[in-house]
This record gives sequence, structure tokens and C-alpha cells, in this order.
Amino acid sequence: MSYSVDKTPEQWREQLDPDRFAVLRQAATERAWTGELLDESRAGLYTCGACGAELFRSGTKFDSGCGWPSFYESVRPEAVELIEDDSLGMVRTEVRCAACGSHLGHVFPDGFGTPTGDRYCMNSLALEFTPETEE
Ligand SMILES: [Zn+2]
Repeated sequence: MSYSVDKTPEQWREQLDPDRFAVLRQAATERAWTGELLDESRAGLYTCGACGAELFRSGTKFDSGCGWPSFYESVRPEAVELIEDDSLGMVRTEVRCAACGSHLGHVFPDGFGTPTGDRYCMNSLALEFTPETEE
């Protein structure tokens, strides 16, 4: 798969701080309950921490109790790329930014009570949040 934003590992390492590089480009997972966007509840837009592509709207964020920011749907189906991930001895679905291929987190079919039933379990470090400007 080729991405519209295509950089070498060296370029990403230069652009991103080490914690973000580890998550976005090396698929690390931040510790639960540590992400600064976990309790973000303002209206706004969540974008890719690597390339700035639009990923999630605040209206689809919900409190899943898992310790990571959770959404029930992406801003557009084609905004994210879903990849089967059988690392750690379990089958999960990895979620990547479709524009740059950066790792965002995983999606699980256990978003109980949400309109889609999905839980996009995202690393806070993989996202940027822009609040809607107040009138
Ligand atoms: Zn991206």
C-alpha cells in the first residue's frame, strides 16, 4: 500500500518527538490512563499526530473505560486503514492513518451501546485535537 504522505523513518524521527515516534511509527502502545486526550470532552476534530489528516470527530468519542481515547467511528471510512494484527497471540484489528500509514491503535467490536458497536481504541499520542472555535 502506498500512502499520500510518504516519508523515510529518518524523516519521521526528525519530525516527531520520541514518544510519538514510538507509537505512530513503531506501533507502541502508550500506558493506559496516561493520554492527555483521554478526558478531552470539548467539541472538535481529532487529526493524525503524524500528518494532520482528519480522523475522528468529538461527537463519536465515548467513555469506554479502557484507559485510551475511544471513538465509535472514524470521520470517513476511508480515513483509516484496518489491518489484521495477530501479534501478542491474539487476533486484533490494527488501525492506521490511511494518509500516512502511521499506527493509531486498534478497533474492537465491543463498543457496547454505541451506534456502530465498534470501539476505536486510540493512543492519545497518535492524535492531535483541535477544539472548535467558540463564537
Ligand atoms: Zn497520518
